[in-house]
Amino acid sequence: MDSENGDKAILSVSGLRTYFFTKNGTVKAVDDISFDLRKGEILCIVGESGSGKTVTALSLLRLIEPPGRIVEGKIMFEEKNLLDIPISEMQKIRGNRIAMIFQDPHSSLNPVLTIGEQITEAMTAHRNLAKSEAKAQTIELLRLVEIPEPERRFHEYPHQFSGGMKQRVMVAMALACEPSVLIADEPTTALDLTIQAQILDLFMELRKKFSMSIIYITHDLGVVSELADRIAVMYGGRIMEKGRRDDVLKNPLHPYTRGLIDCLLSESEKLASIPGTIPNLIDLPEGCIFHPRCISAMDICRTERPGSSKIETEHYVYCFRYGGR
Ligand code: SF4
Repeated sequence: MDSENGDKAILSVSGLRTYFFTKNGTVKAVDDISFDLRKGEILCIVGESGSGKTVTALSLLRLIEPPGRIVEGKIMFEEKNLLDIPISEMQKIRGNRIAMIFQDPHSSLNPVLTIGEQITEAMTAHRNLAKSEAKAQTIELLRLVEIPEPERRFHEYPHQFSGGMKQRVMVAMALACEPSVLIADEPTTALDLTIQAQILDLFMELRKKFSMSIIYITHDLGVVSELADRIAVMYGGRIMEKGRRDDVLKNPLHPYTRGLIDCLLSESEKLASIPGTIPNLIDLPEGCIFHPRCISAMDICRTERPGSSKIETEHYVYCFRYGGR
């Protein structure tokens, strides 16, 4: 799989659409998105809540529940389209080759099992290891994610861990099967700023140490500016702009990305906000879905959907102001 700049992509998503068929109408939660993830990079998917970030992540693992369904697209991973393989094969990939960390570590850990039991269970579910070996490797993992006194804490229960320590345990659990792709969905949202910074450092360390590819989902552009190699900006289930971190953050082109960055820069003064509200995914505006909020909208924006325009080697924007046909 060649990525958008010709490098090998470890994961390549094209034309992905995930809809929810509700009695009130069809919710186009993810509507024709494409992106690549390369070995050893951190791709940040950023957007407001309801922009389709989490549904994108769940789609990659085929964890969409009815009334949701992936209606179209390709997710290429290790030469296979994950949407074409049997569910039994997908279950082997999930948690093994591709692991996911969720926002809330409290609900992801089993309160009646010790931390050590839970990590060794994750490890032995996919790898053939003797119990003693699994325990030794679990303690190593706890050490790696910087949990103090790992031998002692192996035997403790989730309620004996703080929020930040629980999230470290979740990272250790995700790493237990040595995945090549790690998807992290807002993993620091519930944590205070100091702990958040420590977890972000941990992600950067993991990427360096294991050449791990990470998809990091967040609404926080501050986090993105620290962590990302590349960025995809989502709005209303679609990608608005994507590219290398500095290209997108220092030269944002899409009016929505510009709005987000203005909000970030003026956060302390609470001056800027993007006028209007995020679209109703059941009743999306015609044309460019951002047009009701866009100060640069033209007539064509109200009737036609913009395609991608390549600005730099890896910098793409979906806007008629830059071509978009
Ligand atoms: Fe604004 Fe038109 Fe560009 Fe959409 S396509 S962001 S409405 S200028």
